[in-house]
Amino acid sequence: MLKSDYFIDVLLPIPLKQSFTYQVNQEQAATLQTGMRVAVPFGKSKIYTGIVLRVHQQTPEYKTKPIDQILDESPIITLTQLKHWQWIASYYMCTFGEVLRAALPNAFLLESETVVQLVSTKEVDEKTLSDDEFLVYEALIHQSKIHVNEIKSILNKNKVVGILQKLLQKNIIEIEETIFEKYTPKLKRYIKLSSNYSSEETLRALLETLSARANKQKEVLMTLFMMQAQNKKPIGSIELQKKANVTASVLKTLLKKEVLEEYYIKKDRIEYQGKAPQMLKSLSEKQEQALTNIKASFKTHQTSLLYGVTSSGKTEIYVSLIKEMLEAGKQVLYMLPEIALTTQLISRLKHYFGDKLSVYHSKYSLNERVEVWNNVLYNKPKAQLIVGVRSSLFLPFKNLGFIIVDEEHEPSYKQYNPAPRYHARDSAIVLARLHQAKVLLGSATPAIETYFNANEGKYGLVRLSERYGKVLLPEIELVDIKDKHKKKKMTGHFSDRLLEEMQLALSNNNQILLFQNRRGFSPVVECTTCGISPQCKNCDVSLTYHKFKNELRCHYCGYHIPMPHSCSACGSPTLDTKGLGTEQIETELKQLFPNKSIARMDQDTMRRKNAYSKLIDALENQEIDILVGTQMLAKGLDFRNISLVGVMNADNLLNFPDFRAHERSFQLLLQVAGRAGRTEERGKVLIQTYNPYHQILQQVSANKYEEMYEEQLQHRYQFKYPPFYRLIKITFKDKNFSKVQKASYWFAEALKKNTTGIEFLGPESPPVGRVRNLFIINLMVKIPKNKPLKQAKQALAVVEKTFLTIKEFSSIKLIMDVDFY
Ligand code: ADP
Ligand code: ZN
Ligand code: ZN
Repeated sequence: MLKSDYFIDVLLPIPLKQSFTYQVNQEQAATLQTGMRVAVPFGKSKIYTGIVLRVHQQTPEYKTKPIDQILDESPIITLTQLKHWQWIASYYMCTFGEVLRAALPNAFLLESETVVQLVSTKEVDEKTLSDDEFLVYEALIHQSKIHVNEIKSILNKNKVVGILQKLLQKNIIEIEETIFEKYTPKLKRYIKLSSNYSSEETLRALLETLSARANKQKEVLMTLFMMQAQNKKPIGSIELQKKANVTASVLKTLLKKEVLEEYYIKKDRIEYQGKAPQMLKSLSEKQEQALTNIKASFKTHQTSLLYGVTSSGKTEIYVSLIKEMLEAGKQVLYMLPEIALTTQLISRLKHYFGDKLSVYHSKYSLNERVEVWNNVLYNKPKAQLIVGVRSSLFLPFKNLGFIIVDEEHEPSYKQYNPAPRYHARDSAIVLARLHQAKVLLGSATPAIETYFNANEGKYGLVRLSERYGKVLLPEIELVDIKDKHKKKKMTGHFSDRLLEEMQLALSNNNQILLFQNRRGFSPVVECTTCGISPQCKNCDVSLTYHKFKNELRCHYCGYHIPMPHSCSACGSPTLDTKGLGTEQIETELKQLFPNKSIARMDQDTMRRKNAYSKLIDALENQEIDILVGTQMLAKGLDFRNISLVGVMNADNLLNFPDFRAHERSFQLLLQVAGRAGRTEERGKVLIQTYNPYHQILQQVSANKYEEMYEEQLQHRYQFKYPPFYRLIKITFKDKNFSKVQKASYWFAEALKKNTTGIEFLGPESPPVGRVRNLFIINLMVKIPKNKPLKQAKQALAVVEKTFLTIKEFSSIKLIMDVDFY
């Protein structure tokens, strides 16, 4: 071996188990460090961006290629990150490359297939561009999108990634992508008298016409004048409405008549920009106690659970802890289960932490994500507090001191597809260990596993069992809709009780939330003559009816057809929609309450850009009287004026065939209920059900978390589920049913031979046994907690390896899901 031979091991973002060795020269070897990016050739004509794992002088067995280019001057990935990713790959049984792909913003991973385009809003000073950069720029002006591969021929050279990387940095080009959304500060609505009435005569005339008929409208005007006289500050629409004691529709009428005008001011701008961050709220005695207990628990535990009822003020406690950590010079990560939740929380946190806060999630544009990445990496003042969803776990923290996992029970913390199928809560705990940081898990309805860990002493446990301001938890009433149907007391899907309570809430100028579960109960079309429902041609499910577009859709693959006029099986024109979706409830509501403003929050309506934050603003501004929605409603939203929550039908939640169905129903219902009556007056919750004696509903109505926990724990023990067993779900997919069946049996047999003390469930077809034309069979592997997980996984890996060499099974898609959720 010649001394002058230098090599690097490179991690590529592809699902192969091993890293690849490339050749570098001495000069390159001297600059390269672990965690820097290089552009490398791969196969015949591909280019990839990869990460340097190691620089060395060991000549590999195979002939190595030289790298194309070095892309960074210093590492953009830390050693701690690499350790963490390695753990994720090994624990969740996927490749390191798959973790890399999930962890890095795509803009860091230019490759031959990447498509780039110009940033449309950017003015470019051509003098600042190098010759090559200019050529790319010019090409993009003529041809709006170009593959990285094509740029090779435009420049007539292979080393193009570095040039593109520069253009990305200069914010001249961007990677093509469909989704991105900026954080928009929330708008507060203010009211003033229209300029039409600025003169005394016009105003007098107006008041005269109003006093005749529209007493309420006059009341609004008089209140407005009074408030204006009292102080010169802008008058918020809600304050006005409250003081005048009128409904939102009275204001609306005045706006329509152009008597009043509305205008908006960005709320957090006036409240924090340019000013020193606000003082913290002073904590209540109970909160103070909880805070002290959390700090004490951190002396002995790395991870603690804050189990605090809804609206107990957990967020304010987090804020105190964050403040202390930031003052100690540590970075803080605040994780949320869903992007949708960030809007409200960010406005709250911005009050306290102003510019120290950055947000990170996949709906941000790639360039923005890169910016946050770099700010975290260089420990910039702007990135001391990161708020994000599960992917924020992958950021290059230098000095992480504290992680909050809010709503830790939320299933969306587990990535379902693609690999890595990691659980962000559990991975956060591992990350914190690497940084010697603390973790606080927060929930009003902790996951069974978490509460178990806390009870076992593995986590610290702090309770907060009183709502802030001593507001009572909402009163929960179960409504037996079977009985109501019998007694003919249903109007559509609304019981007389629900309608009564709705009338009451509306007459008090309060808002209402109605909840309809998304899963398993979508509106399905059925022929009343022959009983057949139109099916998806790719999946084994009924198509669901979408009224707005008058079409039938598959929720699994997106297949859709116009609503047919007659049954395809018997030809009768007797197709009928049944089942209950949010859309249908909305329709019924519009008939029941024609004068009220009604809105809907579900995946269909929330698809548009900023739809979510607009809806939240409208809700806060009390422009919405009744909101119908799916599980999205349940999650941590904080509204002042909701006095009534209605659950349209609790049964479809409970009937879901999953060992967590009961736990989840409990959590979901209690969380939805928690949206009611968060200030002053006690809220009311009505749950409509065919089965009011179901033990879970009884437990929900009496807020008996502990009882639910004990009972579920019994079941888990008896039927061998977490926290007593760990689950690995192995999924087999193929176009050919008998092949997938054969493969799954082969695998199960081989695994049984290679292991002891492990339980199996299946192989069996799931309820939806075919999706996108692929048949599915699952094998659930259950490993007792007292058995080393590593050994079981090793056995699995061995069986998998053999499996992959069997020619007959080469078309089978094999998916491993560790800690299946
Ligand atoms: P949780 O996260 O436990 O559901 P929040 O933190 O959202 O509860 O608090 C519920 C409501 O009570 C919020 O509107 C919050 O602003 C208010 N609140 C909580 N603690 C305080 C406090 N110490 N001072 C003033 N308001 C508070
Ligand atoms: Zn389908
Ligand atoms: Zn028919």
